[in-house]
Amino acid sequence: MSEAEVERESMEYDVVIVGAGPAGLSAAIRIKQLAAEAGSDVSVAVLEKGAEVGAHILSGAVIDPRALEELFPKWREMDTPLKTPVTRDKFLFLGPAGSLGFPEIFFPPFMSNHGMYIASLGNICRWLNDQAEALGVEVYPGIAVSDVVLNEDGSVKGVVTGDLGVAKDGSHKGGYTPGMELHGKYTLIGEGVRGSVAKKLIARFDLANGRDPQKFGLGIKELWEIDPAKHVPGMVVHTMGWPLSKGTGGGSFMYHFEENLVSVGFVVHLNYSNPHISPFDEMQRHKHHPELAQYLEGGKRISYGARAITEGGLQSVPKLSFPGGALIGCSAGFVNLPRIKGTHNAMKTGMLAAEAAFAAVSGGRQHDELESYEPAVNASWVHKDLHRVRNVKPLWTKFGNIIGLGLGGIDMWTNYLFGFSFFGTMHHTKPDHASLTRAADAKPIDYPKPDGKLSFDKLSSVFLSNTNHEEDQPVHLVLADASIPLDQNLPAFDEPAQRYCPAGVYEITRDDDGSNPKFVINAQNCVHCKTCDIKDPAQNINWTVPEGGGGPVYPNM
Ligand SMILES: Cc1cc2nc3c(=O)[nH]c(=O)nc-3n(C[C@H](O)[C@H](O)[C@H](O)COP(=O)(O)OP(=O)(O)OC[C@H]3O[C@@H](n4cnc5c(N)ncnc54)[C@H](O)[C@@H]3O)c2cc1C
Ligand code: SF4
Repeated sequence: MSEAEVERESMEYDVVIVGAGPAGLSAAIRIKQLAAEAGSDVSVAVLEKGAEVGAHILSGAVIDPRALEELFPKWREMDTPLKTPVTRDKFLFLGPAGSLGFPEIFFPPFMSNHGMYIASLGNICRWLNDQAEALGVEVYPGIAVSDVVLNEDGSVKGVVTGDLGVAKDGSHKGGYTPGMELHGKYTLIGEGVRGSVAKKLIARFDLANGRDPQKFGLGIKELWEIDPAKHVPGMVVHTMGWPLSKGTGGGSFMYHFEENLVSVGFVVHLNYSNPHISPFDEMQRHKHHPELAQYLEGGKRISYGARAITEGGLQSVPKLSFPGGALIGCSAGFVNLPRIKGTHNAMKTGMLAAEAAFAAVSGGRQHDELESYEPAVNASWVHKDLHRVRNVKPLWTKFGNIIGLGLGGIDMWTNYLFGFSFFGTMHHTKPDHASLTRAADAKPIDYPKPDGKLSFDKLSSVFLSNTNHEEDQPVHLVLADASIPLDQNLPAFDEPAQRYCPAGVYEITRDDDGSNPKFVINAQNCVHCKTCDIKDPAQNINWTVPEGGGGPVYPNM
């Protein structure tokens, strides 16, 4: 945690929120709504590292509008980006050439997507941002929060934003501007999955004590514009099986929405064991399956990106409050994995933290724990949403894609019908970075070459993410020990960072004769998915914020 070494300007707010995702923006809106109802004034600032709100947002997304309904009861009369209701809901198990469809009757009703909407979460955040600003929230995009600042008693006093104008070698360039401190009576952390500030707070306040390790997937997504004759507005397709091997969890989604747009995504669970796996190449080859190719052929890929997703569920949610603030949304991890939905829970937890913060500020308190927040989450529908699916991921991990998921299905039914599980509550036993087997003991995978029509290479993909970082700045992917990639990871795991990074950031380069390996970090390509921070087997890579405004600029992901 930073002790101020440089003279920093500071600003005072009642509530400071890190991250303009659905969690952060819903929290900001709720505080302002409560203040308006009470006739009081509560100042709220939201800081966002993307160049604009929505620039770093990547999701599916099929949206459960439940939290939106609570935040804006008249949302259906407002001009929201939720324009495509789900009309068809297909679940397929893929083999290499064929597929087996599972009728909806196999799944408990809460798994149904009817009543949900397909949309771009980036556009939803842009809309929420407009609502927040109209209520008087100060939203600052292009500002990356690098750390928190502490009071003398150890409580969180606020945040510090990253310095601007620091050269790669650490010297100050012309235009150097030290980061600012933003002090809040309460600080809410809505950084999404594997937040870099959340990670420090979880460690500092031991928030994960007694909880299971968090589990993750890597989601890689493309946006396609397809032949209007093939577009089925409102169609949702989820697949499992091919091309992943039996022991690797994951699956794909395809959502048809708006004007001939299709979201195509592939999620690989990051507890995979074979270090030869390349989630990017799995994604590329899965599009050649006839079930997907029939829609994509003749279409145009218009955007690409990647983001990790939390998968641990209820057992992995850390303690939510700490002195001076709280974790909201996917910084804590509220994704319902079998439903592949986290937005409604991110919004609702943001709203519940907002209610706790508003009550505290109104009562003249500051920098203490928002003790009412976690019980409020546990009493809310968020807890119910996650509780009835709590064993799906542990069963999947333990018994694999077929038996594990079959048992998961039965478990969801018994939870739904009788509020009961034969398995009690199962646990996640190890973190994802500890799951790799040695490269020499694992089966090599020969991925097909991209055809340039349905499948593509990494560099042309990253190009479509509009990723840009100021090149002359310190590398934001910080190695605790620079020798580990070559001395440990290369011999043991053939340095898996070369393959798990979906943006080609990590490379092993060699001389022409294959000698003299070097570990190269092309930090400017980073799309901020956080996978390296999660999956590096030595936990040697620390993802820190680059200069604010850098990273992808997703249009409507
Ligand atoms: C591939 C994929 C598919 C998904 N599909 C669905 C779906 O169909 N339906 C659904 O409901 N959910 C889905 N989810 C999950 C959903 O996207 C998340 O649950 C949701 O985005 C979490 O919201 P959040 O506000 O907590 O975090 P995020 O949406 O990640 O937002 C966090 C924001 O904080 C910013 N930020 C992070 N760190 C800092 C910092 N230090 N300083 C300043 N700003 C910072 C980020 O740039 C970002 O804008 C999917 C996720 C993935 C990855
Ligand atoms: S460097 Fe890390 S965070 Fe950036 S794109 Fe690669 S895996 Fe993701």
